[in-house]
Amino acid sequence: KRRQGQTISKGHKNYELMLNLQLGIRHSVGRPGPAISLDLKSSAFDPKEKIWTKFPPEGSKHTPPHQSSEFKWKDYCPLVFRTLRKLFDVDAADYMISICGNDALRELSSPGKSGSFFYLTNDDKYMIKTIKKAEVKVLIRMLPAYYDHVRSFENTLVTKFYGLHCVKLTGTAQKKVRFVIMGNLLCTHYTIHRRFDLKGSSHGRTTSKPESEIDPSTTLKDLDLNYIFRLEKMWFEEFCRQVDKDCELLEQERIMDYSLLIGFHFREVPTPLNSEAVTPTGNEDHENEEAPRLSQTGKVQADSEPSGRSSIRLGINMPARVEKTVRKTDETQLVGEPTGVCYDVILFFGIIDILQDYDITKKLEHAYKSMQYDPTSISAVDPKQYSKRFRDFIFKVFVEDT
Ligand code: ATP
Ligand code: CA
Ligand code: CA
Repeated sequence: KRRQGQTISKGHKNYELMLNLQLGIRHSVGRPGPAISLDLKSSAFDPKEKIWTKFPPEGSKHTPPHQSSEFKWKDYCPLVFRTLRKLFDVDAADYMISICGNDALRELSSPGKSGSFFYLTNDDKYMIKTIKKAEVKVLIRMLPAYYDHVRSFENTLVTKFYGLHCVKLTGTAQKKVRFVIMGNLLCTHYTIHRRFDLKGSSHGRTTSKPESEIDPSTTLKDLDLNYIFRLEKMWFEEFCRQVDKDCELLEQERIMDYSLLIGFHFREVPTPLNSEAVTPTGNEDHENEEAPRLSQTGKVQADSEPSGRSSIRLGINMPARVEKTVRKTDETQLVGEPTGVCYDVILFFGIIDILQDYDITKKLEHAYKSMQYDPTSISAVDPKQYSKRFRDFIFKVFVEDT
């Protein structure tokens, strides 16, 4: 299986940052803490709840000696995130091994426009994203509501957050890097053949890559979408309920600009992938890659994990079907015409990029772009409109499989 991203080894420009991050995580996760109760006191969510730790190269009472320059490490609301990890069933030792092992992190070639960097752990379980100060503020502000939400809804589709930290270089640079550790939605032993990042807005929503460079690792967008997703009745109903609940949370927290990330794996052969409108090219590992198959069965079972455990949750490892659609030439038409051609897939999805609030910059972006484009087509709209448009779109793209 091909791996995404570039391993950060010695000499990489962010090698030191990675070491700092690993030292920090080891410190935060390894530190003995109180017994965990899922009923958190409100004081745990206080924005002032943060711990600074100094990491001098020679080591200190609580920190080991290390090879890089001195830095400071900040842990935001440590008890809340410790409890979230517990709630999400993350074992402390496993978490540490995933993030702090040798050659543990790979840097993805910046997938977003925002300037954030993304790192993937070697086992693909976790994604680390560098974020802006404003996004840290948003996460801390929404943390009580987020905590209640993920506790109430085990099928929630919103991003799972496991930690929020900051590395401050204390030398002449004085640079601060803030980052969040989250679950990788597309963590699976299946090859993901297609991935879509969907917002429900149309302006600028195509991949920026030239057609010749599009391959299964390309994240396609709304205007590239050439499938609808067919879910079994039970899953479809749960999906609709959950999307409504999740959007309600995001709307209440005045969040916008989020998207539904979808990835899927075509089950079994014979139709070659290159009969697709989007042709995978320049990919070295195609000989044993599975291509889509026309679905006859309708109902399919997901293969069990290599461990023998079959784990299906909403949006994780879900057997489903996708139906090919054809787009009208009208560029603003978001959903294409169904063709009746269906493929069995294993489907993954979740709501990502949920830390942008409708702040002054986004209001200005809205005002400015509205002069030039159809205001309903641009991404920057107020959270209520955003959530409505997002759901309207999602419920057109996901249907009950009959
Ligand atoms: P922008 O604000 O321009 O949309 P961003 O820098 O905020 O970009 P995101 O939208 O968070 O970036 O993510 C960019 C891409 O990274 C997504 O389209 C997706 O392919 C991948 N990605 C982000 N978060 C996750 C996640 N939790 N699991 C798997 N993939 C993710
Ligand atoms: Ca985004
Ligand atoms: Ca963003």
